[in-house]
Amino acid sequence: MKTAVYPGSFDPITNGHMDIIKRASRIFDKLIVAVVRNPNKVSTFTVNERMEFIRKAVAELPNVEIDYFEGLLVDFMKSRNAQVIIKGLRAISDFEYEFQMALMNRKLDPNIETMFMMTNYKYSYLSSSVVKEIGRLGGCIGELVPDVVLPDIQKRLTGLK
Ligand code: ADP
Repeated sequence: MKTAVYPGSFDPITNGHMDIIKRASRIFDKLIVAVVRNPNKVSTFTVNERMEFIRKAVAELPNVEIDYFEGLLVDFMKSRNAQVIIKGLRAISDFEYEFQMALMNRKLDPNIETMFMMTNYKYSYLSSSVVKEIGRLGGCIGELVPDVVLPDIQKRLTGLK
């Protein structure tokens, strides 16, 4: 069984993330969307909130699981018996950092492979930060985040003003 892990902050999940999740879930037997819990990084949504949004958004994808991890991704991969890391690429600007991470993860565990998926051009401009910025300022974030979680995310962001 081929299991892939799609790691990220997902603070919050966007339609760009969803596009990668849907496409990767068609390639692997199981896809684990793994929320990074990083005590050194300030996040807007709690890990529980982020996981709950993802859970609702992927409800119709039977082979997608949601989890979180803290520490090394390769250790989490081992604990879940996963072989492939999925990363999305939006632009050249994503490349340098992701390239470094992929090589570092390979050094830490040569059995783990990183696979990159190109963004759908419709979402190439989309990031969680953009969603938060617009939402906070009272702009419409419809079409940027999955419909099922749109009211919850919009409400939380408006409250942060
Ligand atoms: P961000 O805050 O930049 O959205 P995340 O850590 O939540 O970052 O992203 C997790 C993964 O999803 C990364 O591999 C990132 O490159 C990818 N990703 C984020 N947004 C998109 C998008 N719009 N299209 C494709 N991949 C994306």
